[in-house]
Amino acid sequence: MTTGDDIKAAGDELTAILVRMRRGVAFTGAGISTESGIPDFRSPGGLWTRNRPIDFATFLSDRAMRDEAWRRRFAMEDAFAGARPGRGHRALAHLLGEGRLAGIVTQNIDGLHQASGVRDDRLVELHGNTTYAACLECGERYELAWVRQRFETHGGRAPDCLDCGGPIKTATISFGQPMPAEAMARARALTQACDVFLALGSSLVVWPAAGFPVEAKRRGATLVIVNREPTEIDDIADLVIHADIGDVLGRAAASAGTM
Ligand code: NAD
Repeated sequence: MTTGDDIKAAGDELTAILVRMRRGVAFTGAGISTESGIPDFRSPGGLWTRNRPIDFATFLSDRAMRDEAWRRRFAMEDAFAGARPGRGHRALAHLLGEGRLAGIVTQNIDGLHQASGVRDDRLVELHGNTTYAACLECGERYELAWVRQRFETHGGRAPDCLDCGGPIKTATISFGQPMPAEAMARARALTQACDVFLALGSSLVVWPAAGFPVEAKRRGATLVIVNREPTEIDDIADLVIHADIGDVLGRAAASAGTM
């Protein structure tokens, strides 16, 4: 982690970048939501160290793993349902409101950007949303309360779609599941047009999402990375800050006169 004077100098540099930013893009990962009580994947004690994710092919082919996926989801429900936007989410909502950010591209599935007041047309969810569910066959939407009630009254069995019998899954993109074409196109357009690309709280190892900061930099945008740990593309960034997002972004946005 960057410390003391380094963080202060880097924070001043970030403030200067935010002041001149006109069509920025914020690219957010699980690290922006840890302050809100939702663990990330790859930090020590993160979700990854407890349970390997269930990939899409396994979810489709193995009923027992489908049950297990829902058991894990409901075990996380208190964290997801109780989470409120943190300082990072709030700073980005302000930067959007000021017209400095053109949009937010998130890998997160927790709905916290919307909860901070960001409109759907300013937000791209690359990996979907875990706060509701849908049938994988016909697309029918299901609320989690309904899924949970069925799950609990049927001995922990994952329910099937009432209309077509297809598997019901949280509206998220699992490993091995095709990326949503429209979200990818919107994220690409934002990336290609931005002047500043802020990569916040992502280990930047999940592809194709991690390709966006590389693309932004290649097209001439200023690339800023704020993450507690080093990422694989720190070496191409214009500014790297290894510190807490809430501390750094909250302060920089306020100093830029935007909050
Ligand atoms: P990741 O777990 O791979 O990386 C998160 C990074 O954030 C880590 O490098 C960690 O050091 C850093 N970090 C954690 N707290 C921080 C803080 N307060 N300030 C600064 N840095 C902090 O997460 P990822 O890159 O987003 O990839 C994981 C995938 O898992 C994503 O695709 C996402 O869909 C999913 N996921 C989402 C959530 C969520 O919606 N909140 C939570 C866990 C996982």
